[in-house]
Amino acid sequence: MEHEVVIIGGGAAGLSAALMLTRARRSVLVVDGAEPRNKPAAHMHNYLSRDGLSPLDLLKHGRAEVEGYGGEIVNDTVRGVTKIDDGFAVELTDRVVTAKRLLFATGLVDEVPDFLRDRWGRDVFSCPYCHGYEVRDQKLVVFGEETKVALVRQWSDDVTHVPSVDGIEVEDDRLVAVLSGSQRIPADALVYSAPVKPRDEFLLALGAETEETPVGPFVRTDAKGRTSVPGVYAAGNVTDPMAIVIVAAAQGAQAAGMINMDLITAGT
Ligand SMILES: Cc1cc2nc3c(=O)[nH]c(=O)nc-3n(C[C@H](O)[C@H](O)[C@H](O)COP(=O)(O)OP(=O)(O)OC[C@H]3O[C@@H](n4cnc5c(N)ncnc54)[C@H](O)[C@@H]3O)c2cc1C
Repeated sequence: MEHEVVIIGGGAAGLSAALMLTRARRSVLVVDGAEPRNKPAAHMHNYLSRDGLSPLDLLKHGRAEVEGYGGEIVNDTVRGVTKIDDGFAVELTDRVVTAKRLLFATGLVDEVPDFLRDRWGRDVFSCPYCHGYEVRDQKLVVFGEETKVALVRQWSDDVTHVPSVDGIEVEDDRLVAVLSGSQRIPADALVYSAPVKPRDEFLLALGAETEETPVGPFVRTDAKGRTSVPGVYAAGNVTDPMAIVIVAAAQGAQAAGMINMDLITAGT
């Protein structure tokens, strides 16, 4: 095998795992499409000691730390994964690499409607813990789930719930939610839980089992990141839709520890 571990996805979960494994002197390749979920946001919050840092700067520092311990990181997108005799073959754009163990840290996709996409992560967002403080006491519109209104009221008393929005317009760089029937509601921010889709197609193809979550089926892991497929691990949003950045990083570290023990048990 070329690598002891191939990590697919180099966001917080993947890089955190890579840091721990490279420091444990394992040979690690991270393959990363460089499209972290929070890329549209200028600032990342709730990461102790790094609150307000740019999400891309966090990953830039993480990559440098991993490479400093000899980890290899390539910017590429994995095209396929197959089980081979004593490990796995991972198909990149122009080569195939092999590994004894796999960690999937591929995240998820927020299926944001086109008309909201330009403002996503700015003044349209799903996570009030991530963005709410920045729009505290402002005029907020919750679009969709009514149950979110009580939560959002922690940040502002001026919250309007609308079941659906047909479009948004921008006047003087301020949002206007346009409802069916052409009613218009100016807002400083719109809170919307976009449907989410885990990037789990290769995990499913390997036979990983899923479990139901409030936002649909996600690949099931144990507390240490083991999937139902021997040798295959998952961490971060690909398996846990609720994981914020610091939780995704912690899950990556948990999985890394387990992968290392797994390799030791296997006599590697
Ligand atoms: C707009 C927005 C703002 C947010 N703000 C915050 C915040 O302030 N604080 C906070 O804690 N959380 C925030 N979040 C949540 C945060 O984005 C996630 O917690 C975090 O990104 C999860 O990390 P991850 O490593 O699991 O996945 P990601 O960060 O999404 O990383 C996954 C990586 O895998 C790569 N990948 C996927 N498929 C492949 C493939 N086939 N081959 C190679 N690479 C692949 C992707 O390109 C990506 O680089 C926000 C989310 C959104 C949508």
